[in-house]
Amino acid sequence: MPTTAASNNNIYDLIVVGSGPAGQKAAICAAKMRKKVAVVERKRTIGGVCVHTGTTPSKTFREAILYLSGLRQRTFYGRGYALKENISMQDLVFRADSVMAREIEVIKAQLRRNRVTVYEGNARFLDPHSMEVASDEGYTLLRGTNFVIACGTRPAHSADIPIDGKRIFDSDQVHELEELPRELIVVGAGIIGLEYASMFAALGVKVTLLDQRSILLDFVDHEIVESLCFQLRQLGTVFRLGEKVVQVGIDDDRDRVFAKLESGKTVHGAALLYAVGRQANSDQLNLESIGLVPDSRGKIIVDENFKTSIPHIYAAGDVIGFPALASTSMEQGRLASCHIFGVPGTIPPNLIPYGVYTIPEISMVGATEEQLTRDKVPYESGISRYAELAKGQMLGDDQGFLKLLFDPGSLKLLGVHIIGERAAEIVHIGQAVLTMGGTIEYFRDTVFNYPTLAEAYKVAALDGLNKL
Ligand SMILES: Cc1cc2nc3c(=O)[nH]c(=O)nc-3n(C[C@H](O)[C@H](O)[C@H](O)COP(=O)(O)OP(=O)(O)OC[C@H]3O[C@@H](n4cnc5c(N)ncnc54)[C@H](O)[C@@H]3O)c2cc1C
Repeated sequence: MPTTAASNNNIYDLIVVGSGPAGQKAAICAAKMRKKVAVVERKRTIGGVCVHTGTTPSKTFREAILYLSGLRQRTFYGRGYALKENISMQDLVFRADSVMAREIEVIKAQLRRNRVTVYEGNARFLDPHSMEVASDEGYTLLRGTNFVIACGTRPAHSADIPIDGKRIFDSDQVHELEELPRELIVVGAGIIGLEYASMFAALGVKVTLLDQRSILLDFVDHEIVESLCFQLRQLGTVFRLGEKVVQVGIDDDRDRVFAKLESGKTVHGAALLYAVGRQANSDQLNLESIGLVPDSRGKIIVDENFKTSIPHIYAAGDVIGFPALASTSMEQGRLASCHIFGVPGTIPPNLIPYGVYTIPEISMVGATEEQLTRDKVPYESGISRYAELAKGQMLGDDQGFLKLLFDPGSLKLLGVHIIGERAAEIVHIGQAVLTMGGTIEYFRDTVFNYPTLAEAYKVAALDGLNKL
């Protein structure tokens, strides 16, 4: 198929590769500055991993599971309570599909409203200012003054892991499963592995979690991680940590999947989720043609303004690596465009909130006890347990807690760590105080709605102040 020459219509102030959170926000930000903007996205994947296989489907599954399983209601109605008996994959997929369809419409409308031109196809560089888009209709040549690479990642595969998308599957394939397995082996206890492990466990699936690391979520407060492990064990999850998986396969005689561990053990199950890392999509962009060299996992190296080693080419989102979240990707995309067009800004790294949507939910902002101890920063803590909050009891969460870390001299807030219902929502109260450089006196002196989980801040502040 012939390449069309770049007409004047195909010349842009900014070309964005990828329409995930980073690409969308980069494009819309530039369009708002009245720049001529194009987004290139592969066929039928507008919205990126975020909408199609990542955040949106997984978090909608989670909502569906919490609702249908009646997990939270069991505190009141007994361990056997469920809103629906025999929950199926179709029950979960039905809700996810409906949310995804609406999300896609919203994104398309936003891009259209802001006059961003969307090209459907695979983009690759031809030279530092030219890009070719290959689609079913042929090739289109685009020329750009500036670029934002927001091409995201895909699940990392290993040649010796026989992924078939049915019994041995990755996180992209979860919503294609035809039925819920009775037992599930999860290889990889990072955020994605843990989130899915907890969701399947909440559905009554017998989950075995394998990871060669002996400590889970090392960036999260250890007390919170201990509570997560305790609550997952209550749901029947078995942990095999510090164990390296050396082989995965299907035992045809027994019609079971298996994972062999370096220690000699073999774990059997009905299905296996392989959730060991992600690989950047930068290998498909012909970066060699422009002299941009990614690292060994394909991550693109950028400076604090998201600029690569080529001054008019920026990168944002998962392709630049940690923290690889939809939340941060959006902001990185926006800031990349701002910088390109002369409005600089940065993300303060210690003020990024983290949400881990396990069951129970975890969220945090600021320093952990471990970081403060390592850095020899004196601190005191204040804790509020959901079991002592009226709202916690009403919601049936008697395990959750919120922990504040603060400077015992100045009372300045240093960190907020929460596990339990709506953790990812209420963390933002603490984030606002932290961002303003506030003290925990704010929580003591503020009237909170009653009954709320937000009230946990006041209880934790009083607990902390009582310790001084
Ligand atoms: C299972 C799972 C759950 C998650 N849950 C959360 C969560 O709860 N909260 C959170 O904040 N984050 C979550 N994330 C992470 C979040 O999805 C990502 O951080 C986010 O999608 C990254 O956005 P992005 O714009 O960098 O790229 P992506 O969303 O990956 O989008 C990149 C797009 O670029 C396109 N593309 C790539 N190469 C080309 C090319 N050559 N030509 C054209 N198009 C191209 C791809 O088709 C893709 O659509 C989750 C991820 C997964 C996998």
